[in-house]
Amino acid sequence: METSYLIKYAEIGIKGKNKYKFEDALVKNIIARLRSVDGEFRVHKEQGRILVFPQSEYDREELLTALSHVFGVAQICPVTAIEDKSFNNVLAGLVDHIKREIGNREFTFKVFAKRGDKKYPIDSPEICREAGKYILDNVAGSKVDVHHPEYKIYVEIRREAYVYVTGIAGPGGMPVGTAGKAMLLLSGGIDSPVAGYRIAKRGVKIEATYFHAPPYTSERAKQKVIDLAKIISEYTGPILLHVVNFTDIQMAIYEKCPHDELTIIMRRYMMKIAQDIAKDRECLALVTGESIAQVASQTMQSLAATDAVCEMPVFRPLIALDKREIIDESEKIGAYETSILPYEDCCTIFVAKHPVTKPKLEQIVESEKNLIGVIEPLVKTAYETKEDIWVN
Ligand code: ATP
Ligand code: MG
Repeated sequence: METSYLIKYAEIGIKGKNKYKFEDALVKNIIARLRSVDGEFRVHKEQGRILVFPQSEYDREELLTALSHVFGVAQICPVTAIEDKSFNNVLAGLVDHIKREIGNREFTFKVFAKRGDKKYPIDSPEICREAGKYILDNVAGSKVDVHHPEYKIYVEIRREAYVYVTGIAGPGGMPVGTAGKAMLLLSGGIDSPVAGYRIAKRGVKIEATYFHAPPYTSERAKQKVIDLAKIISEYTGPILLHVVNFTDIQMAIYEKCPHDELTIIMRRYMMKIAQDIAKDRECLALVTGESIAQVASQTMQSLAATDAVCEMPVFRPLIALDKREIIDESEKIGAYETSILPYEDCCTIFVAKHPVTKPKLEQIVESEKNLIGVIEPLVKTAYETKEDIWVN
């Protein structure tokens, strides 16, 4: 009796004729993710199911953690395959499995049976009845609840018999890569890694752009962004991080533009450059960690002013979340501890005491005229000297 792992997926199941594309992408992503797990695994797709078969020694916790990081996975159920499928043997195997997976405690259950092998002498309703009775008699603490069972217990009779119970939850979402690619503006803060996580969860592959301003921002600040990219890459797959030197652009804006408009003008240049990289890299949208009213540059007027320089859609997955909710999610995905490390950010260094909160686009465009002739070569150089780092 060996344990394999059944991967249940949710939304992919309803994608009609294209379903196989999503399934194939999920299989591919699972295989890629398992490369970093010690051990050999075979990943197999059959009849609308994905199964992972360990082929060597492995650490179960490590395997489950890896699988629970793959978007598209709704649930992971350890499965016992029972070769000799005579009914008594199946019942005995089922009880062993339940004791192993649920342990010694009180729980409610309901049995579900599927008889793929139509020659099997016992039909599904009878399998459910008999298995239910057998569990009640042999597993202390078990109780039937047909309406809201804590555990669904499955018995499937195919070439072999398979038994499994409600497994551990995966992250849900869609397989990364099935919804195109987007460019994440990744800073060292709390928000943007969560924004990247959220957008990737919908199947979008991400690349990232980080603007740093040496010597005002340190190598450690840059390393922090690389570390954050690494943390989200556990979910999104490898990320190509574009590191852009923003110092000269920032200095020029600082010298030539009204200080209360600095942040907004800086943000417009960030968006412009990120968009140039995005176009080059065949990304279909920009992604930021902005949320309405969080800071002066995130009022609706400010967001409109930054959007005005963008030709491609700008996605802001956190737009309506409270800081508390963002922090909770940051903790959940394991980014928070890194995000709160106290390294300087390029925006905070040049920030004005009283930034405009309701910028007028015409006024901003007027102020930016002071940059004509100065900023273009700086933008070009920033673009040409960017450093590309693969993070995974
Ligand atoms: P975060 O926690 O993501 O840093 P924040 O609350 O500090 O967000 P801002 O500094 O106003 O907010 O930045 C808003 C968004 O702009 C960020 O979520 C990120 O997407 C992008 N951004 C800000 N600074 C940078 C940077 N140095 N490099 C790349 N993107 C940046
Ligand atoms: Mg920030």
